[in-house]
Amino acid sequence: MSLNAGYKSPWLNEELEILQGAVAKFYEREFQPHVERWEDQGCVDRDAWLKAGEAGILCASIKEEYGGGGGNFAHEMVIAEEQGRAGISGFGNSVHSGIVAHYVQSYGTEEQKKKWLPKMASGEIVGAIAMTEPGTGSDLQGVKTTAKKVGNQYVVNGQKTFITNGQQANLICVVAKTDPAGGAKGTSLIMVETDEAEGFRRGRNLKKMGQKAQDTSELFFDEVKVPTSNLLGTEEGKGFFQLMQQLPQERLIIAVNACVAMEMALKYTTDYVKERTAFGQRILDFQNTQFKLAECKTEATIARVFVDDCAVKLLDGKLDATTAAMAKWWTTQKENEIIDTCLQFFGGYGYMMEYPIAKLYTNARIQKIYGGTNEIMKMLVARTL
Ligand SMILES: Cc1cc2nc3c(=O)[nH]c(=O)nc-3n(C[C@H](O)[C@H](O)[C@H](O)COP(=O)(O)OP(=O)(O)OC[C@H]3O[C@@H](n4cnc5c(N)ncnc54)[C@H](O)[C@@H]3O)c2cc1C
Repeated sequence: MSLNAGYKSPWLNEELEILQGAVAKFYEREFQPHVERWEDQGCVDRDAWLKAGEAGILCASIKEEYGGGGGNFAHEMVIAEEQGRAGISGFGNSVHSGIVAHYVQSYGTEEQKKKWLPKMASGEIVGAIAMTEPGTGSDLQGVKTTAKKVGNQYVVNGQKTFITNGQQANLICVVAKTDPAGGAKGTSLIMVETDEAEGFRRGRNLKKMGQKAQDTSELFFDEVKVPTSNLLGTEEGKGFFQLMQQLPQERLIIAVNACVAMEMALKYTTDYVKERTAFGQRILDFQNTQFKLAECKTEATIARVFVDDCAVKLLDGKLDATTAAMAKWWTTQKENEIIDTCLQFFGGYGYMMEYPIAKLYTNARIQKIYGGTNEIMKMLVARTL
């Protein structure tokens, strides 16, 4: 939905508009018919990844020489936005293409890029990033998983939880301590290829309040041996630096998803209040409805304009971590507030999962938590005061 007639994202050009149309059609044709079944089974079908790969939806911003689409963050945004508009919350492409593939492209050796990226682009490999552990999430320095170098191998031991794509991933970027006494400087990213990893075990596909078609899992590493060439990059102890470098992009993707969710909530609600009547008039004709929705539309517009500005900066290599943190916490906070306000106008129907507003509501809650909680975002902003 266009928020205001005449407003167009400054980064959106003709080529991207064509992509937008093609991606929307792909999701409508290939994914939408399966969404309910995927929600029931707790994950998308494995071949959804292959179909997306064939359609050029995976790794759109990875270089062509590594099998990617050769685009930039704008391409990822278009693809993520259309996924949100189509109501497909379960397909973990933002993590796969927007995060894991970029870790490999940014820090991987030539050999690593050539080995993994083409298969990530085709969907043969599904990527995941495993930072969070049962005992630590926000305080990443507290990770207990270790990767001990023994000869030409790392031996990985530990446990991760809440890992997106955890049931399907076969390339997992694991945050581990290569030097447990070294604090942040002792942290490295170890790429675990699960198909070859003895001692690797997937735990439960966790039952969530929303995003039900998204597999979110526990992972266990028990003496898992990987070659030392699976250290991401060439030097141990760079994990924290690598994570920090990618955070603005990761947080902006969450903010983009928040904008789409707000816009969809407004669209569904505006349509509904024009149809539904009470006391002899449309719900929209009550001044309360008009004022509340006017407030929602104003805030959703502010969010969009801010996120667009962040996107332009990111495309220019100038998005700083503080601004990205502002975008993440504020847009996800507004997303939750606006969807809650909108849901109210549906009355009891808003509580029924067959109404898209109910799904938006349950899907939105996690946005304030993952990708760094909103409290952590405010801490980052506060440090600059
Ligand atoms: C659906 C889903 C998908 C996820 N996907 C992934 C994934 O793919 N990979 C991955 O690694 N992780 C993933 N996560 C984990 C997610 O990133 C963490 O849950 C999140 O970072 C918070 O960590 P925690 O749950 O351990 O909470 P905690 O760190 O225990 O925090 C608990 C509460 O304390 C607050 N708090 C903590 N420290 C401070 C502080 N210094 N000041 C003020 N308040 C503070 C937090 O804001 C929060 O409100 C996912 C989680 C979910 C639910």
